[in-house]
Amino acid sequence: MDLEALDRAVVSCRACPRLVAWREEVAVVKRAAFRDQPYWGRPVPGFGPADAALGIVGLAPAAHGANRTGRMFTGDRSGEVLYAAMHAVGLSSQAEATHPDGLRDDRLHLIGTRITAPVRCAPPENKPTPQERDNCRQWLAAELRLLRPTLRAVVVLGAFGWQALMPVLAASSWRVPVPRPKFGHGVRVELPATDDGSPLTLFGCYHVSQRNTMSGRLTPAMVEDVLRAAKEAAGL
Ligand code: SF4
Repeated sequence: MDLEALDRAVVSCRACPRLVAWREEVAVVKRAAFRDQPYWGRPVPGFGPADAALGIVGLAPAAHGANRTGRMFTGDRSGEVLYAAMHAVGLSSQAEATHPDGLRDDRLHLIGTRITAPVRCAPPENKPTPQERDNCRQWLAAELRLLRPTLRAVVVLGAFGWQALMPVLAASSWRVPVPRPKFGHGVRVELPATDDGSPLTLFGCYHVSQRNTMSGRLTPAMVEDVLRAAKEAAGL
């Protein structure tokens, strides 16, 4: 299976009854500001080229962001911060991500970078359960296996993504230290090369959520600093 086939498969997944019900209910009820728009209302696949050297791992789609547009971090405040920072350091073609489809298509593309998430369906209050996280692990694991030949660095946005990623990396034949490294903003962890592939550098970054950016806990400059270091580690 290649990455395109994986993306087609993930959008059909219905393994988590609570999340299936929520993503579809949100797509019917809609937010007033988007009432005239179709909602995606399905699992959101990764976004970016199949030969990405840099990965960005978030948490899960936002109910009225990626669950509406069908593209990671597209159409919400978190995405505004992330794509602006990516553009500032040369990882995206533009600073805005509004919609990937039809007349609204923003034509955004990423440079050597793929954005993904450990949970592919929008969860109520942005909080997936441990069972839902574990259900969804198969998709992230499959995606990283396909990216493994080119992937050299990963930026993880937030502790949830960090903790979800560690077992996936270990199961995908990267050598993860024991005890597992803890998440923190600015944390950098080098995973050594193995018989199966190249080394990988992990970077921790606070999530680009409104809670972090509006409170000043995370500034655009802090995001850009992490992305710049990760870009260099990835050889981009
Ligand atoms: Fe499937 Fe993941 Fe969505 Fe659960 S969260 S239904 S495992 S795509």
